[in-house]
Amino acid sequence: MVENQCLGCSNVCCARLSNLMLTAGEYDALFRRFEKDLDVKNANGVILVTPREGERCPHLLGHDCQVYQDRPIDCRLYPYMMVRVVERGHRATVFFTPRSLCPENDRIRSLMSEDEAKTLVVTFWKQVYDEGWTIDARSEKGPVSRLLQWIETIRGTQVYPTPTVR
Ligand code: SF4
Ligand code: SF4
Repeated sequence: MVENQCLGCSNVCCARLSNLMLTAGEYDALFRRFEKDLDVKNANGVILVTPREGERCPHLLGHDCQVYQDRPIDCRLYPYMMVRVVERGHRATVFFTPRSLCPENDRIRSLMSEDEAKTLVVTFWKQVYDEGWTIDARSEKGPVSRLLQWIETIRGTQVYPTPTVR
């Protein structure tokens, strides 16, 4: 999130972290060592991390990410944000929005094409779903709706939570 081109304000990303979405591998590599200070939820294979106090990501020092080169996919994606998953059969469609509360949203988003964002989204969810699932990613241009709720699929029975705005 914090990178040379941004304001480094950390106002609504790294310093106000809520339900950062992680694969199990990302959690083990980067966040498990801080688990006593984190509220951790496992939502069908997606690990949702929120600092217990202070809201700051444990990797944020001043305005800099200390693991920037190895940061999680959800961080790389920002200010695009994954909002919900719809399953039909063995196909999962992941919707993501190009809008966040970042004050530099449009400028920072312009550094990453929608196709690059799609690739990151698919990479994330391929690590969550078993082999045999097809993962699609679609941009959703509506208002940011990162609601912590269970979204029912249109036809299937599987449901997934979506994280809150951070
Ligand atoms: S909220 Fe936006 S401008 Fe502020 S630090 Fe995060 S990415 Fe940079
Ligand atoms: S890992 Fe780095 S980029 Fe991601 S929330 Fe923490 S400080 Fe920000």
